[in-house]
Amino acid sequence: MAFEGLSERLQSTIQKIKGKGKINEQDVKEMMREVRFALIEADVNLKVVKQFVKIVSERAVGQDVMKSLTPGQQVIKIVQDELTNLMGGEQSVVKFSQKPPTVIMMVGLQGAGKTTTTGKLANLLRKKYNKNPLLVAADVYRPAAVKQLETLGKQLSIPVFQKGTDVSPVEIAREAIAHAREEHLDVVIIDTAGRLHIDETLMQELKDIRALKEPDEVFLVVDAMTGQDAVNVAESFDDAVGITGVVLTKLDGDTRGGAALSIRTVTQKPIKFIGMGEKLDALEPFHPERMASRILGMGDVLSLIEKAQLNVDEEKAKELEEKFKTQTFTFDDFLEQMSQVKKMGPLEDILKMIPGVNKMKGLDNINFDDKQIDHIEAIIRSMTIAEKTNPEIINAGRKKRIAKGSGCSVQEVNRLLKQFEDMKKMMKQMTGMSTKSKKKMKIP
Ligand code: GDP
Repeated sequence: MAFEGLSERLQSTIQKIKGKGKINEQDVKEMMREVRFALIEADVNLKVVKQFVKIVSERAVGQDVMKSLTPGQQVIKIVQDELTNLMGGEQSVVKFSQKPPTVIMMVGLQGAGKTTTTGKLANLLRKKYNKNPLLVAADVYRPAAVKQLETLGKQLSIPVFQKGTDVSPVEIAREAIAHAREEHLDVVIIDTAGRLHIDETLMQELKDIRALKEPDEVFLVVDAMTGQDAVNVAESFDDAVGITGVVLTKLDGDTRGGAALSIRTVTQKPIKFIGMGEKLDALEPFHPERMASRILGMGDVLSLIEKAQLNVDEEKAKELEEKFKTQTFTFDDFLEQMSQVKKMGPLEDILKMIPGVNKMKGLDNINFDDKQIDHIEAIIRSMTIAEKTNPEIINAGRKKRIAKGSGCSVQEVNRLLKQFEDMKKMMKQMTGMSTKSKKKMKIP
C-alpha cells in the first residue's frame, strides 16, 4: 500500500498533539522534527522537506493557532493543507481541445508502464468523460510494443492505429490524427517510444511529434517505485520535451511515496493520474487533497463513492437493496454483490478509504487476500439451487460435498454459512431500524 510508513509515522505524531488544549513553540518544534524524519524516510526530496517543514512551522506558531481553543486540531489542519499543496493543490483534469481530436502524447522510459497506461487512460476517458479514443502505436523500435497496444485495444474494444515498425513515428502520428478526424474519434492517445535511458535521439523524435500538431497534453509516465529517480526523469523530460503532467504508475507497490510528494514541487508539473495496479481499470485521477487525507488516516470517501459510481451497476445495486429489505437475499445475490465489490479493486484498498478504518485494532492482522474471495465464490458455486436459496438444509453430508466440490475445507464452508447468517441478521436489524425511524418521522 502506498505511503504506508509515512502514514503511520505522521498519524502517531499527530495523535500526540491532537487533544492538547495548549501548545507552545517547543511542542511544534518536536512535532516538526518527527514530521521531518517521516518525510525523509519516505524518500521525499530534501529541498521539498525543508520547505514543507518551514511553512508548516511558521503557520503553526502563528498567534491565531496558539490562542485558539483547539490548537492541536488546527496544527493537523495546517499539515493537511500543506501536504495538499505539496502534491499540487487543486485537482488538475485533462485539457480537452475545443477542436477535436484532443491529442495526448504519452512519453517515458521503458518499463515505466507507458503502454499499459495508454490503454488504461483510454478506458478511463471513455468511462468517465464519454470519449471515443484512438490508440496510436508510435513505438516502432520495440516490435512487441505495437502488438502489446493492439492486444490492449482488443481487450478494451478501443481502436488502435498502427503502421507496423517501418514507418516513422512522426508519420504515424500525422496519419493517426487525420484518421481520427475522419472517424470522429475525439481523443488521440499516442504511445511513443521508450528508451532505457534518456538520450538525444529519443528527445528529438518526441520534439518532432510534438511539432506536428501542438498536443493538448504531454503526459510523462514514471514509475513511483523508483523514488527520487522518477523526479530526476521528470525534470529531464520536462527540460527537453516539455511535459504538461505526470502519470505516476505502480503507486500500489510504492510504500514510501517520495516521488508523489516531490514531483510537483520540483518540476512544477501536476500529477494527473496514478496507476494503482496491473488491471486495466486501475488508473485513477489524482486528487491531492484526497491523497493528503488518506495519508493522514482520515479516509477518502469521495474517491470511494466515485469508484462505486464507475464500477457498480446501479440497477443491480437497487435490486439487491430490495432483496435485503424483503429478506429474500440468497447466496446467488451474495455472489453478485461480491463481484460488484471486486470490480472496485482490492478489498484492502477499498477499506482504507473509509475514515477511521485504518485505526481499527487488529486490521493489520487480517489478511485481505483477494484469493479468499475466490474461495467463497468456489464454495457458493458448488451449492445446488435449493441450498443457495435455503441454506438451512445444508447438513453435515452436504457440507462435505460442497467442500469437496470447491476444493475448500469443511471449516471454510462453515465459516461462510455463519457469515451469511450474520449478515442476514444484521440486515434484518437495519431494515427494522429504518422502518421504525420512518414511522417516527411521520409523527406530526
Ligand atoms: P512500458 O515499457 O513503459 O510501455 O511498460 P509496460 O506498459 O509494458 O509496463 C511494464 C510493467 O508494469 C507491466 O508488467 C505492467 O503490467 C506493469 N504496470 C504498469 N502500470 C502499473 C501499475 O500501476 N501498478 C502495477 N503494479 N504494475 C503496473
